[in-house]
Amino acid sequence: MLIAGGGAAGLSCAVQLSLQGLTRFLRVLIIEPRSRYERDRTWCFWNVIPHPFEDCVSDSWHTWSVSDGQRRIDRSWPGLVYQHLPADAFYEKATSLLAADPNVELRLGDRVKRVESKPEDNQALAMTDEGPLTASLVLDSRPRGARLELDRSSRNAPGHFLQHFHGKTVRSEKPVFSAGVATIMDFVEARNDGIHFIYLLPYDERTALIEDTWFSDEPRPVESYEEEISRYLADRFDVVRYEALHSETGAIPMDPRPIEPPDGPRQIDIGTRGGAARPSTGYAFLSIQRFAAALARGLTGWAHDPSQEPPRPPRHYSRRSVFLDRVFVSHLARTPEAGPDLFLRLFDRVRPDALARFLFDGGLPLDDLRVMAALPAAPLIGETLRQYAALPGAGEPREPSVP
Ligand SMILES: Cc1cc2nc3c(=O)[nH]c(=O)nc-3n(C[C@H](O)[C@H](O)[C@H](O)COP(=O)(O)OP(=O)(O)OC[C@H]3O[C@@H](n4cnc5c(N)ncnc54)[C@H](O)[C@@H]3O)c2cc1C
Repeated sequence: MLIAGGGAAGLSCAVQLSLQGLTRFLRVLIIEPRSRYERDRTWCFWNVIPHPFEDCVSDSWHTWSVSDGQRRIDRSWPGLVYQHLPADAFYEKATSLLAADPNVELRLGDRVKRVESKPEDNQALAMTDEGPLTASLVLDSRPRGARLELDRSSRNAPGHFLQHFHGKTVRSEKPVFSAGVATIMDFVEARNDGIHFIYLLPYDERTALIEDTWFSDEPRPVESYEEEISRYLADRFDVVRYEALHSETGAIPMDPRPIEPPDGPRQIDIGTRGGAARPSTGYAFLSIQRFAAALARGLTGWAHDPSQEPPRPPRHYSRRSVFLDRVFVSHLARTPEAGPDLFLRLFDRVRPDALARFLFDGGLPLDDLRVMAALPAAPLIGETLRQYAALPGAGEPREPSVP
């Protein structure tokens, strides 16, 4: 088996294949262009889904807040914590686990240029910088490039954003941060061309990760995020001098439109490429962990005889969540200026455990109802009807059902 990309999804899938014993029957080769791993990002999430990297969590917060300058909502819930996992700890643990498995090879400094199906040979062909490779299955996590184009095909077309951000870990000269509270969203302004907020994770009173975050159509130049961070530190905390320790930049699709499937049964798209990023939030790490474990379970029988066609991969999100995200993101895209109020309502009115489960699609239908009940009814009902009407096949005569 070949895994294109040794990032969060590629390494997580390889770890699960190894932990669940599939590598006793299959050899796994991971192709990754970078030559070494470093702390290129931090992953945060509420502790709602178990995974093998729990011991890599370095910080956690029992209270989190959202605010818009006038109102601030602080929430906490027994047993629920917002956790922070630095990427270098994840890479270190994943690569050590894989190095101990003789049937897994991580090849750094190589790149997959193209993947093709070879149905006649029950294989897929990957063209790499170092030459062609065939595999019984390719798990592909290569970034697709964000789809920025706006869909104007119809008035009801689902809305979508790019969540783009740049963050810095800063150390201020004076103690200014409330170390016990993670700021999930501090809306610095209401805009009609997107949503703009600051995300701030304090590690102690002087050190914090602070990210300037936008939901809009296009990323901005790095200097513009940096200016926003400096302005925020000066306005909110009266901090003008600080040391910058790490930085990270990202652009995550918030796109509820269906993702193009790969072109053959011997290819499975994983990670962000395969739809792991939840359209309404951009969170992907826990979904990647849940998917990797389910994928390995599903492939267990096939691993004994890879000449058979592999089973279909698990879904990242339930159909119900996909539809709710489509309604939510389309409503936000239509009225971005209402975004701060919508998010404040969610954190204020929904029980934190239900909201955390909802955000990671680990929830019950009752959680969805709690979330829907917290949002303004009239515009959401309108958007639900619009999105229902825009679903492929809606309004067409139904095929007679087979008795
Ligand atoms: C800065 C940042 C912060 C984030 N924070 C959070 C968070 O707090 N919580 C959360 O849930 N999600 C977060 N996300 C979203 C998501 O969890 C991450 O993007 C996650 O890394 C996605 O995993 P992935 O495997 O799809 O992509 P990646 O981890 O980016 O892995 C893709 C891999 O493919 C490799 N690659 C590229 N081109 C090729 C090629 N041609 N051939 C082979 N390999 C190739 C890349 O080098 C990379 O290693 C964040 C994303 C970013 C960018």
